[in-house]
Amino acid sequence: MRAILIGPPGVGKGTQAKKIQTELGWRQIATGDILREAIQAGTALGKLAENYLAQGTLVPDDIMLSLIEQTLYGNPPLENFVLDGFPRTVPQAEGLTQLLQRHADRLDRVVLLVAPFTAIAQRLAARRTCRQCGAIYNLMTNPPKQDSICDRCGGELYQRDDDRLEVIQHRLEVYQRQTEPVVAYYRQQGLLQEVNGWGSIEEVYHNIKRALGGF
Ligand code: AMP
Repeated sequence: MRAILIGPPGVGKGTQAKKIQTELGWRQIATGDILREAIQAGTALGKLAENYLAQGTLVPDDIMLSLIEQTLYGNPPLENFVLDGFPRTVPQAEGLTQLLQRHADRLDRVVLLVAPFTAIAQRLAARRTCRQCGAIYNLMTNPPKQDSICDRCGGELYQRDDDRLEVIQHRLEVYQRQTEPVVAYYRQQGLLQEVNGWGSIEEVYHNIKRALGGF
């Protein structure tokens, strides 16, 4: 299964894609996580991407497309995956279509998670991420047992630079301007399934599974 989870930043794509990976065994490809790891490791990709992430703007399409090609068609190529955070622009979506065609593959499903922007902004500002294992918490709805410490691995919890309020507003604008046209692109192709993304993790997961065809 080749699927995409799409939706505004903070709607819960990462949480849900991780759950799909754990429960269905499809590989989660989270481009934001890959870029943050590259920045932390100080690689060439990380150096290229650093400023874009800090400002909440998008990394150029050619960089993202070659990253995706390397990830999907490494050795061995991935057969079951869920893309989380890619594509974010129409050229990325078109590039992905061509990439899959070159490998005689195609997308099976695109699931759009829908939620009100005001609620998302509040949720993002309360998000904390584990530096060590990437686990995601929310100070309001899913706080860690001990302040600033990951329940799972004991790592330090931090607030992503781009989860500060002033950057959140900008990221939501970028989503409206650059990623909403991607939603229209997939709707036109008949691949899009809309899902209510505002509920408990289990409720939303249930909705996604149904949209993916009952897995
Ligand atoms: P995320 O963790 O998905 O919210 O992504 C964090 C940041 O990584 C974004 O604000 C962008 O700067 C960058 N990024 C992630 N995925 C992409 C993409 N597909 N295209 C361009 N930039 C991206």
